[in-house]
Order: sequence, then C-alpha cells, then structure tokens
Amino acid sequence: MSEIIIGIDLGTTNSEVAIVENGIVTVIVDGEGRKMLPSFVGIGENGQILVGEPARNQYILYPERTIKSIKRRMGEDIQVEMAGKHYSPQEISAVILKHLKAVAEDYLRKPVHKAVITVPAYFSDAQRQATREAGEIAGLDVVRIINEPTAAALAYEARHEGRKRILVYDLGGGTFDVSVVSIEDDVVEVLASHGNNKLGGDDFDAKIVKHIVDHIHGQHGIDIGESRQVMARVNRAAETAKRGLSDEPFVRIDEEYLIEKEGAPVHLSLELSRYEYEAMIAEYIDETLEAVHIALSGANLTASDIDEILLVGGSTRTPVVGERLFAEFGVEPQRNIDPDLCVAMGAAIQAGMIAGESVSAVLVDVTPYTYGTSAIGDIGDGDYYYPFKYVPIIRKNSPLPVSKTEAFYTAVDGQEIVEVKVFQGEDIDALNNIEIGEFLVKGLRNVPAGNLITIKLDLDLNGILHVSAREKDTGLEKSITINNAIARFQEGEIDVAKARVRALFGDDDAGFEPETAADSETEEHHVQVKGRALAEKAQSLLEKASDEDRVDMIDLIEQIKDGLAGKDFDAVEVATDKLADIVYYLDA
Ligand code: AMP
Repeated sequence: MSEIIIGIDLGTTNSEVAIVENGIVTVIVDGEGRKMLPSFVGIGENGQILVGEPARNQYILYPERTIKSIKRRMGEDIQVEMAGKHYSPQEISAVILKHLKAVAEDYLRKPVHKAVITVPAYFSDAQRQATREAGEIAGLDVVRIINEPTAAALAYEARHEGRKRILVYDLGGGTFDVSVVSIEDDVVEVLASHGNNKLGGDDFDAKIVKHIVDHIHGQHGIDIGESRQVMARVNRAAETAKRGLSDEPFVRIDEEYLIEKEGAPVHLSLELSRYEYEAMIAEYIDETLEAVHIALSGANLTASDIDEILLVGGSTRTPVVGERLFAEFGVEPQRNIDPDLCVAMGAAIQAGMIAGESVSAVLVDVTPYTYGTSAIGDIGDGDYYYPFKYVPIIRKNSPLPVSKTEAFYTAVDGQEIVEVKVFQGEDIDALNNIEIGEFLVKGLRNVPAGNLITIKLDLDLNGILHVSAREKDTGLEKSITINNAIARFQEGEIDVAKARVRALFGDDDAGFEPETAADSETEEHHVQVKGRALAEKAQSLLEKASDEDRVDMIDLIEQIKDGLAGKDFDAVEVATDKLADIVYYLDA
C-alpha cells in the first residue's frame, strides 16, 4: 500500500483533515465525532494546552489565554502573547496541525508523516513559507501547498475531462475569497482571485448582535454592551439565529435571565425574520458580488464564460448568497459537497494523487430533484396571478438529510383553507412538474389576506418526504408523509413518458394496447390537475368578467369542484373545457 498523505484545510475559523482510503475521500472525525476543529489555541486554567472547542469556549472569558484566527498573521514577523508567553504564528498554527495529525493517526492507527496543506490563493510566498514551517514544527513533511479554490475544484471535478471554468465563491467566518479557476484534464489553475480578508459570517453575527443590543436598549433602557458575559451569550444566540435563518423564514431568539435591572431579571425574547436579516447583510453581499466581478475581469472573462459555481465556506449556506449568484450568472451554484469540508476533501484528493492512489469522485447522498410547492405568481408571461408558480423549497443536489421551511401568505380576506400541493421537478410552471402529494389545512383564522403560513419539507436519506404546513400565529398544523419520494418521481416520469409516446403514435395506437390502471390513473390525474388549475385561474378572473360570464363561471367552477369531490372525472373534463373557453377570451 502506498504511503498515506493527509490533506489539511488550515482555516481561519475551522480546520479539517481528510484522507483518501481505497479511492474514497473521507473527512476524519475526532474522538468526539467532530469533523471540524475550531482554529483556536489556548492555555487552560491548569496551564494545559487547549486546541479547538475547549479553547474557543474560553475565548470570550479569557482572551489573554486564547489565540484565534492566527491564519491572519501567518508570514508576519511578529509574536503573539498567550498566557504571558510569546509565540510565533507558525508555532500556534503548528499546535493546530499537530492536533489534526494526531486525529488522523488515531483513526488510521499508524503514524502519519506527510501532508498537503491548503492556503488562500492570495497568500504571498512568505505566507506559504510560514505555513510550510508550521507543518515542519508539527512533525509533518508538507509535500505540497495548494490553493484553496484549487482544492475545492478538485473535490468537485476530480475526474473531469475537457475544460471548464469555475467560479469558487468562498465565504467563511472571517474571510471572503472569490477565484476563477480553469480545470483542464488534471491541470487546475487559478486564473484570478479577489476578496476581503475582513469579511465573513462574523460580520453577519455582529449585525444580529447589534439588533439585539438595540432591542434590549429600546425595551429596557439598558446597555448590555458593557458586560462580557452577557455579550458572550448574545453572540452565541445571534450565531444560532443566523444558522436557523438559513433553513427557516423566522427564528425566535430567547435568552432567559440575560441581565438584571433594578433587581428584576430581564429576558430576551425576540423574533427575527429572514427578510429583516437579509436587509441587514445586504451591503456585505453586494460587496462580495463586486469582488466577483473584479475577479472575472482579472481573468478576462465575463459571467457567461463560467460553467460552474462552487460554494465554499459555512456562510454560503445563507440562501441569499446562492440566490444572488444565480441571478447574476444564470447558473445554479453547486451545493452538493459540504461547503465546510470541500477544501479538506480537495487537499486529500491532491494528496492521494501524489501518493499514487486512484481517486474516485467525492461520494455524497444528495437529492437528485427539486421539491417544492406552488403559489400565485408570474411565471414569466406577465400573468401575475398564475396560480401554479413553482416555489422550490428543497433544491436539487442538496445533501441529505435536509430540512427547509418557507413562508407563504393567504391570498384572500377571510381565507379559511389553504391547499398545499407538493411537486418534484425543476419547471417554473408547477403543472409541468410531478405532483407527489397534496393536503388541505382547514380552520385558519378569519383575518385579512396575508395570514402567514409556513411550509416545511424534510427529506431523509431513505427518500421519505415529510411535509407540514402551519398557520404561524396559531400553530395550527397539518402534515403528510410521502414515502419513497425519490423513486416515486421515477414512476411518475415513466407515466409521463408513456403518455408522451402514446401521443406520438396518435390515438390509433390506443386501440392496440389495453389501457393499464397506471395509464388511466395518469389521465385522471391530468384531468384533476387541469380542472383545479383552471378553476383557480377562473376564480382570479371573476372580477374582470361581465355579469353574465361571472354567473356561468361560478356555475362551472362549482361543477368542477363537485366532479372532483365525487371523482366524476368525465364531468370535470366537460366543465373544464367549457370554462377554458371563457377564461381564454377573458385572459387574452
Ligand atoms: P468557515 O470559516 O468556512 O468554517 O465558516 C464558518 C462560518 O460559517 C461561521 O461564520 C458560521 O457561523 C457560518 N455558518 C455555518 N453554518 C451556517 C449556516 N447554516 N448558515 C449561515 N452561516 C453558517
């Protein structure tokens, strides 16, 4: 067996170690099951050395005994002070590297001597040299230093053939880098890089912290900024809230007994919406996009030259990041490899290649389809009231398991029922996707339009999709479970394909082949979907109609609803056709 070479992502906020074993890339977990090591080093109460989580935990209370973000100082001729002693940045980094080496050795049950370590593309020679030295101090022969965007590209495209241009957007805790990478067969080259090494998720936390501080000040007239302990709790709460908002449209921030005022406890209880949060961080996201354009022009390319966008760094889980990049490039960013781990995986792939291992692509369980629901909206033809605009909730290629929630609003005053339809597919018109489930939530409060309903989709590794809808104000909830959601799509797809082929052969063919249960089910399904869609569309056009048409329309809508309820699909079809004529000329 070839000698093992480990791959290390030595990050500003977190560091990881990965290896290639029997051709498969694995990020190594430590004794406590963690893949990510916070890049913190400290001296504990009894003088013992602390690395990772324990060092991070003491940081706020004992900053004089703790070092964070040492990566920012690499290559500088300075000493940092920790518990009264002085250390070079190389030495502090070496403590992190030594810990990762030990994690790998525990896992492999044999000594490790060699490593590939990643650095930002903008690192100077001095910074790269300092990283090598840190490796040496830790007892590692650094066989290669590679650029982080190169590593990310390798993780995604290890066995790529032909040429691709890739934008690597890396937004971590404290740094932002964007690189344009060209990959051609085995040659990966960074064409241009840009960024801001003082911008990242910590700034997003700070915005939420400020929001909380202002809230407490506004409500209780107290300035909590003075107390380190209180601010430590607020910081943690803000970060938790931020992560929550990546998956949910609202979060609650609750901290009991945060502080005392005149002997009485003050509790923090606040709701934050993704919408408010996105407004807080908009200036930062704008700044990253400006950097993207600078990197593109540095590479003499334009947005349309980019084949893929890779998301790296924990902060790219913020949905607005992917949305803005999609709007800018028209390319859906890749999110199938964990953005926190993909640089370490790429380092391991490079290490494996050097060691002469044959490396296969990174294996991850992802959903091959997008899942979502429908809402009223424009699908690009100028009709703002089309009732079946597809709203993706879980996107294709999301790693499993995944749970996402989105907010919706009722459309009419006094609306007591919402119908939730669940679709699989990618088309903006939900009716061109496959409907895989539906249910009603009844008994909503009698309030004006705009009643908030959250819809949550949970998809597990076995393809079981759990869908729930909840009236936010009351907690009224209804849910369904769709078993085998991933395979069902394929069945549905087969039905659609069968119908298409039948259509190609013309109706004559129907005489030769007896209609199967599945065929007739598909047709009934289409009649139902069409009937329902048209009834909803007609409903939205009632105001536009003449009195005479309105009476006919209401009558036909009723016939469709009765037919659907009684499963009389012939009646639904007849009424749908008649209604289609009226709707057609009203809508024209
Ligand atoms: P990194 O430096 O790549 O390890 O990124 C760490 C940053 O990612 C921190 O600021 C985290 O708060 C942030 N982060 C991690 N998970 C999420 C999430 N689900 N949503 C938003 N930010 C996240």
